[in-house]
Amino acid sequence: MTHPSPPRGGEGNALPDRRWLLTALGAASLSACATAVAPSRPSFGPGAALPPILTRADRITRITVCTRPFRATGPRLDVETLGDKRIVHNYGHGGSGWSLSWGSAEIAARRALEGGAKEIAVIGCGAIGLTTALTLQRAGAKVRIYARERMPQTRSFRATGIWSPDSRIADADKMGADFPAQWEAMTRASWATHQTYLGMPGAPVSFTERYILRDAAALNPAPAGQSQEEIRFASFVDRIRDINPRFRDLAPGEHPFPVPRVRAGANMMFNVGELSHLLTADFLREGGTITPMEVHAPADLAALPETVIVNCTGYGARALWKDETLTPVRGQIAWLVPQPEANYAFIYRGVSVLARPDGVVVQQVGASDMFGVGDADETPDRVEAEAALKTVAPLFAAFP
Ligand SMILES: Cc1cc2nc3c(=O)[nH]c(=O)nc-3n(C[C@H](O)[C@H](O)[C@H](O)COP(=O)(O)OP(=O)(O)OC[C@H]3O[C@@H](n4cnc5c(N)ncnc54)[C@H](O)[C@@H]3O)c2cc1C
Repeated sequence: MTHPSPPRGGEGNALPDRRWLLTALGAASLSACATAVAPSRPSFGPGAALPPILTRADRITRITVCTRPFRATGPRLDVETLGDKRIVHNYGHGGSGWSLSWGSAEIAARRALEGGAKEIAVIGCGAIGLTTALTLQRAGAKVRIYARERMPQTRSFRATGIWSPDSRIADADKMGADFPAQWEAMTRASWATHQTYLGMPGAPVSFTERYILRDAAALNPAPAGQSQEEIRFASFVDRIRDINPRFRDLAPGEHPFPVPRVRAGANMMFNVGELSHLLTADFLREGGTITPMEVHAPADLAALPETVIVNCTGYGARALWKDETLTPVRGQIAWLVPQPEANYAFIYRGVSVLARPDGVVVQQVGASDMFGVGDADETPDRVEAEAALKTVAPLFAAFP
């Protein structure tokens, strides 16, 4: 049997696309799904392939909130002249900033170097700013980063950390005709560069097994008001089928989860703490400098000695550049005590869980990619965090 396209690989959201699921399962198998809990499934625990995730609320060490910088037309990468400065924009990467960083940096760096400037300023020290600065350095430029926050305080540092290059990256009805090809070029370049960080001490980039868990409830219609997507988020998964590892359906005996339908596959993962540290250290070691500075208005940039400036301010560009096309998309993570023995990820009933070396990331991703759209509130919500834990706790109930 051939399967239609799997669900879109959003950074946390790989919720069942109902059309995909219904076609893939076929009507006849739906009733079986509603009851199936394989009696012989392997248990969690020592010796089993997957250790259980400990989901007690008292294991929450912190709750962080971040705003994804979504632009309906895709990231801004154009060049603007401001007095005697050339401004190259590189912001608005939605839920895909880590994934697309290197490819986007390549485009921005190429534009910044046109005209022969050798000293370049980068505003911003998140995933986009650091990779842009490194790409410029490696092309021979002298680079200074100016930023209000250094990496550990940026929004990038609060990301989930998975390969999700088309997560809330554009609105399919509003993006330009050229964007899909540009996205593909960015994605392929990023994929290649991320892989140069595999196998390094601290595993800044690695692969993890990711499970998409479905039960009967997931086949029911979403609650009223949650199933209608107001934005038709672009999905480009078909363009990179040759590079993304394939997911496959698992038989009941192949996994320990008490749900009837499981798909699994390898997913690239970013150990954001380690990767951030490495990128910062590389930038400084290669002669870069980081100057703390808040830019209050574009006119402030006139005071910089560099004539070419790359604007990597992420969601900050909404206030700084008065870019009202930047839409906030709120995302919250509850961090649990690290479980070094666990190295896998799953998504179940709108909750994404990823065991990273620096903590277990638990994230409510909602019933669709509309979850969090328009919400710029970065106040941690303990109730949301505990609800997410309650949702996934039954998966591990059989473990003593
Ligand atoms: C919950 C959540 C999970 C996510 N998970 C993933 C994931 O798994 N994979 C993925 O690829 N993407 C993920 N993302 C998306 C990703 O985090 C963003 O796309 C990315 O962080 C954007 O990076 P950035 O460098 O553009 O912005 P930021 O990280 O916000 O950095 C902006 C920089 O600009 C500086 N700055 C801003 N304004 C000013 C100013 N006025 N003056 C001076 N400096 C300024 C800031 O101090 C900072 O240094 C996730 C996002 C969220 C919210």
